[in-house]
Parts: sequence; structure tokens; C-alpha cells
Amino acid sequence: MATRPARDEIESYLHTLLDVDRFKDYGPNGLQVEGRAEVRRVVSGVTASLALIDAAIADGADAIVVHHGLFWRGQDGRLVGWLGERVRRLMARGISLYAYHLPLDAHAEFGNNAQLGLRLGLVADARFGEQELGFAGPVGDARSLAALAARVQGALGGRPPLVLPGDGRALARVGWCSGGAQGYFEAAIAAGVDAFLTGEISEPQAHLARETGVAFLACGHHASECFGAPALAAHVAERFGLEHRFIEIANPA
Ligand SMILES: [Zn+2]
Repeated sequence: MATRPARDEIESYLHTLLDVDRFKDYGPNGLQVEGRAEVRRVVSGVTASLALIDAAIADGADAIVVHHGLFWRGQDGRLVGWLGERVRRLMARGISLYAYHLPLDAHAEFGNNAQLGLRLGLVADARFGEQELGFAGPVGDARSLAALAARVQGALGGRPPLVLPGDGRALARVGWCSGGAQGYFEAAIAAGVDAFLTGEISEPQAHLARETGVAFLACGHHASECFGAPALAAHVAERFGLEHRFIEIANPA
């Protein structure tokens, strides 16, 4: 009986682990670019940028695991320009690209939200928002907003979050959702949190924080999503006996 290539075994394993079929997403989750059948060395990163692809090539990787892949709803489908170059470089080297977006945000152990919570000393006891992507739980010993902001800064490489203070109440519960989840602020407020933490902010959240009294912390899209892909890839590496390395490509956004 012919054994399936490691490349495909890894995909089916991750498909089940991350419960991919449960999600409605903005792009395809799973193997986005099919490289060589053998996989020995994996690189993880946040985004399948050209810089990450080049770093993975230099590292001798057979596969890359990312949170932000190459293909998103609304693209016209042509492999030209910058997108063509990313795909060409992967295919020329036979490197597979695995991308997991919302399923990776949501996963209770390896996901971005779970891993971000771990760094911030937050453990979720509730979920909220669309597809239950938002996490909420008790604040622990960071009862003041200043203490929470300091904890965020310490955990995310020294980058201070942008803080909208709300009404200055003592914090009991915190909601969080990594990346560009500013649109979940209202759902977080409805879920009864005293502060909400995500990557980005848009104009309306400033008013909502003032008018509802719930604090809002924008911690950086990239900074808040640095932990899921390496946690997932490390798990896969252990399970399949691979080498793994996370490569950070700095991003101020
Ligand atoms: Zn993101």
C-alpha cells in the first residue's frame, strides 16, 4: 500500500485539528501552494510575504505555515505582479504553503487568541462575536487599565498599546480578539467586558469607548498575531518529527 506524502498527511491532520469546515472565511484554509511531497523542515510566520518566503528559502524549508496566506475574497485571481512573484518563488523551490486564518484565531490551544491570552495571563471562560472568535475571561491581577496596558506592552515586544480609557472603572473582565477585530467591540461590550483588546482600531471605536465606558486597547495587528502560527507549527513538527523555526518579519501595523 502506497503511503501518502507527508505534505498531504500534514494537511489532513491540520484540517481536522483546526476544525476548518466549521468556519466561513475570507480565503481558503489549508494547503494553498503545493510543494514537494517530502517535508522535513518547516518555517512558520505571520504572513506569506515575499520577505518570509525568501527567509524560508534561505532556511532550507520544505513548507511554510502562516496565518495570512496568499488568496483572499475579492482578488481577481491573476498571478501577476507581487502575488505572481510570491507564488513563483514558492513553486520554483517546491515549497508548500499552509495558511490558516479564522480557524487559527479560534483554536482553543494553538490559536492566536489562546496564545495571546497565555502571554497576557488571561484564560477564556466565554466566547463571543461572529463564529465565537472573541475570547473573554477574568482580568486576573491586572485590575487597573494601566496594569493591563503595561502587561500588553511587556508581552508584545515593548510596543505600547493605543489605549482609549473608557470610564476608568476597575477591571473585572477582559475581552480579546487578535488582528483586525475592532468590529467586534460592540459584541465584546454586550458580552459584559470592562476592556477589549485587539490589534487595530478604526474611527468609531474611540466614540464607543467614550460612550459605553468600556476601555479599548489596540495592540498592533501583527504584534497580536505572532503566537498562533509558531505554536501550531511547533505542534505539527513534534507530531511529524520535523524541524521547525519561527521567522519574525517585523511589521509596525
Ligand atoms: Zn490577521
